[in-house]
Parts: sequence; C-alpha cells; structure tokens
Amino acid sequence: MNNKSKKVLLLSLEKVFANIEKQKEQAIQELSDFVAIPSVSAKNQSLDEAAAYAAKLLKQNGFVVKQFETGGGPVVTGFMDVGAPRTLMIYDHADVQPAEPFDLWESDPFKLDIREGRLWGRGVADNKGEFVGRVNAIKAYLAAGLQLPCNIKFVVETEEESSSKNLTKYFDQDKNFFDDVDGCIWEFGGKNREGLQEFVLGVKGILYVQLSVQTMTIDSHSASATHLPNAAERLINAYKLLKDSSGKILIPHFYDDIEEISNEELEVIKKYNFYPEKIKEHFGITTFRYGLTDEEAKIAYFTKPTCNICGFTAGWQGEGGKTVIPKEATMKIDFRLVKNQHPTTIQKNLRAYLNEHGFKDVQIDWSNGYPPSKTAINSPFVQLCREANLQVYGHEPAIQPTSGGSGPMYLFGDHMPVVSLGSGHPDSNSHAPNENIYIDDFLNGMKMIATIIDQFKSWQK
Ligand SMILES: [Zn+2]
Repeated sequence: MNNKSKKVLLLSLEKVFANIEKQKEQAIQELSDFVAIPSVSAKNQSLDEAAAYAAKLLKQNGFVVKQFETGGGPVVTGFMDVGAPRTLMIYDHADVQPAEPFDLWESDPFKLDIREGRLWGRGVADNKGEFVGRVNAIKAYLAAGLQLPCNIKFVVETEEESSSKNLTKYFDQDKNFFDDVDGCIWEFGGKNREGLQEFVLGVKGILYVQLSVQTMTIDSHSASATHLPNAAERLINAYKLLKDSSGKILIPHFYDDIEEISNEELEVIKKYNFYPEKIKEHFGITTFRYGLTDEEAKIAYFTKPTCNICGFTAGWQGEGGKTVIPKEATMKIDFRLVKNQHPTTIQKNLRAYLNEHGFKDVQIDWSNGYPPSKTAINSPFVQLCREANLQVYGHEPAIQPTSGGSGPMYLFGDHMPVVSLGSGHPDSNSHAPNENIYIDDFLNGMKMIATIIDQFKSWQK
C-alpha cells in the first residue's frame, strides 16, 4: 500500500471510529439486554431467547438471518452479501457458563453493572461482549457511508459452553455457507499482562472419557481385602497403564499422526511471555510438573498432548472413616490433542490397549471430543489482522499458535484461516464470578474489527 492510499484508509476509519464512540451508550445497552438473558447452556436455559436476541441485532443491522435447529440449542447465521470478492466470517456464541456460586459476585451476574470503567456481568467477556461489539463495528462502518470491502458472515451458536455438542448438526445442514470464506474471527481474546493484544491461532482437540469398573455386586467389609477385588485399585491400575512418570502417554500410536512444529511457530512460542512465576504463585506451587523448566513448560503447553484425571469417584468419601472395599469406581479423563491427532482414533486405540492388558472390564461409559485446529502463522489473513492490530493498538500482537483449551474450531479451520482475538484482559474472570471487561477495551475491540474489515481493501483477489 502506498502512503496516499494509507491516508485515505485512515481518514475513512476516523469517521468509523467516531461513530463507534457515538454508539457507545447504545452498544452498552444492547450488551445489557443480552446479559439479562440467562442463557446457561449447561442448564439448557433461555437458549432460544438468546438466539432470538442475536438474530434481532443482526437483522437490525442489515444481515440476512437464518436460524437452524440442531436438536439442542439453535444456531443463528447472518449474511451481508455486498458482492465483494472476499468474505469475512465471525464465530460467536450466545450462551454462557453457569454463574454459580452467586454469593461470590459483587453484582447480579445477569444484570449488567458499570463500575470502575468496566462492564460486569456473566458473558461480557465470554462472549456476548464480543458479539455486540462486532455487530456495532459493522454498524459504525456502514454509518460512515462506506461500502464494505468484504462480505460478512456470522455464525452464532448457543452451546459453546457445553462443548458445542450439536454444532456438527448445524454444520451438516449449512456446509455451503463456509465456501468462499477467506478468514474467520473466532470468539475469544484480549490483552495479556504486558498489555499486548493476543492472537490465538488454534485450539487443542479433546477426547473426554468416563471410565468405570465394577468388581463386585455389593461393597464389602474391608476385613476381606485379603481376597476380595477392590474397584478403586483396579481402575487406578488401568490408569497407570496410560502414562509413564515423565508424562509420556503409552497408548499405542498415540503420537503417530502429530504434525511437527514449524520453526516459525517455535520462534513465536519463544517470544511469547508465559509468566511462569505468576503461574506458580497463582497456584501455590514452586516447580512445574515432571521437572520441566519454565521454558520447557511453555513449549509443552503449546505443543504437547495431555492425559489428565479430571475426577475420580470410589468408596467412602463422607466424614470420618468407613472400612469398606468399593465395588465400583469411575474416573473422568481428558486428553488434550494436538494437530492431526483425532479423538476417534485415540479412543479406539485406548479401548484396544485396555483389552490387551487384561482390562476388558473397564468400561468407557461415555465419551465426547473433537479434533484440534491450527492456522499457519504465515497465512495472509493472519498478516492482515496483524496489520490491523498495529493500526489500532500500535503494537504487534503476542501470538499463541494454539490455545491450551479446546473448541470446535476444526469445523471452520478445516476450511479457512481462523484468528481468535477480542476485548478481554487477564482478570476478565471468564467462567468465574465477577466477569468483566473494560469499556475502553470494548470500544477498541470494535475499532479492531472495523479495521480488519477495512484491511480487506488492500487484500484483493
Ligand atoms: Zn467460555
């Protein structure tokens, strides 16, 4: 881009930015209305209402809106087709995590509160604030009398906080909607402790299983521990087969499909500040697991799969002692997966491995999961978002090649580059009491989206 066109670009954005400031009160009101809908997907609560509100905002701003039923929470899509050669997609969700425990909130989680320059309420950071901000960015762009340089598609689901368990049912109905999309902005993001905006370019996959075993028909007096089978011990022994003391996962072929990390990615990871001391302080630990150094822990976080006990239930857990041999035990285990690992293959190998080692009686009661997804750092869409970040925030974003968490990004990421960014901050308390975002970040997030859209002018086909 030459200087002249850059100037024109900035001038047009000036108007858009002024509109964003002008829209501030109304945008906050919209977020307030959205937060007031207690759309907790874990309880299947108010999901239709939340979808209807998202649909209303999209319609008001000129989108052609469709709603899809999935058997679970609905999915709303919006399409603004301006006949541009390129298309931007935005993925958001209208559901939230449960707000409990309520007594830890300083204000009603479902009533937007404004204090200390922040907006407080369930979903303001994850992800109702993003959705409202993104729609307002487009509104401000259009209100400046500008022609959108790209078509825009929204996908807003209502079960993200419950593992997006029915999103594939939407996807199967609307596959063509994903054709011709050049890049996707994912739901979450914000600035880190250094004040740098972060980009997350992927998510780990996940396989979540519940294992259980029953060794007897009734619990027994522990006097008989000499000769009666203990379900808790049996399940622990099965688990011990899965991982060695260095953290290496022992299920056959577990590592076979993993894509190697590029040098570019390693460079980005090296530059990334992981705040190891803060992490240790926060969790009250002095060293990382498996004897990992700070640097090794960081690299592992971004590149390694995991096998982790989330919960274990067996025997007597009530007050005081009860001498008993438990007849049954259950264990919940999650595996976080990295690029090219697939939950179905791993579950199949897990089953075969347990069988081979004499643990046919260990049941996999249920499982769910999805594969990982990752966008290449050198993708042109990532470069476009980096340029927008420079313009709005004045710095290069801190890039996480992947999040340690999981999400259904693969449905999108298999078709298009995906960048996750947003308006949160390190103490946004997503999923926790007193969720909040700064009003300034809310507005800057809108400016960022408007600038990304504007950048499509210089990304022609
Ligand atoms: Zn969330």
